[in-house]
Amino acid sequence: MNEFDLITHYFKRPAKNADLGVGDDAALVSVAAGHQLAISADMLVEGRHFFSDANPERLGCKALAVNLSDLAAMGAKPSWFTLSLALPKMDEPWLAAFSRGLFAMADQHDISLIGGDTTCGPLTIAIQIAGSLPRGQALLRSGAKPGDEVWVSGALGAAAAAVMHRTGRVSLPDDVAERCDLRLDLPIPRIELGLRLRGIASAALDISDGLLADLRHICEQSACGAEVWMDAVPFAGELDALPESLRYEAFLAGGDDYELCFTAAPDQHKAIIALADELKLGLTHIGKIIQGTTVHLIDAKQQHLPIIFHGFDHFAYES
Ligand code: ADP
Ligand code: MG
Repeated sequence: MNEFDLITHYFKRPAKNADLGVGDDAALVSVAAGHQLAISADMLVEGRHFFSDANPERLGCKALAVNLSDLAAMGAKPSWFTLSLALPKMDEPWLAAFSRGLFAMADQHDISLIGGDTTCGPLTIAIQIAGSLPRGQALLRSGAKPGDEVWVSGALGAAAAAVMHRTGRVSLPDDVAERCDLRLDLPIPRIELGLRLRGIASAALDISDGLLADLRHICEQSACGAEVWMDAVPFAGELDALPESLRYEAFLAGGDDYELCFTAAPDQHKAIIALADELKLGLTHIGKIIQGTTVHLIDAKQQHLPIIFHGFDHFAYES
């Protein structure tokens, strides 16, 4: 099988929502009048973003899910993606499983693979995703204002607990480890939530590097500070199996959750509660935006705790 057979066999599918898909020098797409394109890219490298023995079907799902999550955080509706793949060798069982996972996630969200590139090299999966949204309605990181409430979707920390278990920092019971693995391997992009937060949220992002580190990005770009009420942050039930200090680290600083963190004016509070009910997704008020420049972690006794955990910084951990 050569490169072209590989593309045809594993990645060429009719592109439903594009004018021209895989096969030419470029794909062609149309954007509805009054809409903007939202474009994002996320790369997964073996040994850095996933373990060498990662299940290829789950990897296909995850590679696309993390990209979908970025569009969710913008409030965009995803439509198209490209896949640039470096493979150490022609491995058909791996390709079959990977493309099965990839297209399962694509079908779930009704999006099309419209192009990419394939080459030989250390296993690297680079996806670029594009979608659209009505002009001016994107959920930016820069829109938070003092007085806004800080919210988070879902429950945090299970993916971080899976990493702690796999790297030997903790030993979780098998069933707990399995559930944490699922959250690490198969994050759920909160697309519907992102779409529904247009007009409600003042700022939003997805949590890929840990709640505190990611909220800091909103603070920087909105020129404000934030208070996070530690005991209000919803954490995954699996974290009960962790020692207390690691539990806090997992849900405050653990990456890979891909939940959304967003801010909204207090007069949106009821609308958010109603939205949680409608989407059957936990949405929790965890703090507020304040004047200032940094994120403050506050316990039940109103004490400010030092933030000793840092989100994952790929270069900080380089050496
Ligand atoms: P070119 O040489 O013009 O860059 P390629 O030979 O790399 O084109 O790719 C041929 C076609 O297959 C293009 O339409 C490209 O977008 C698509 N393609 C290549 N690799 C992939 C992939 N991994 N997934 C989807 N489409 C791909
Ligand atoms: Mg090429």
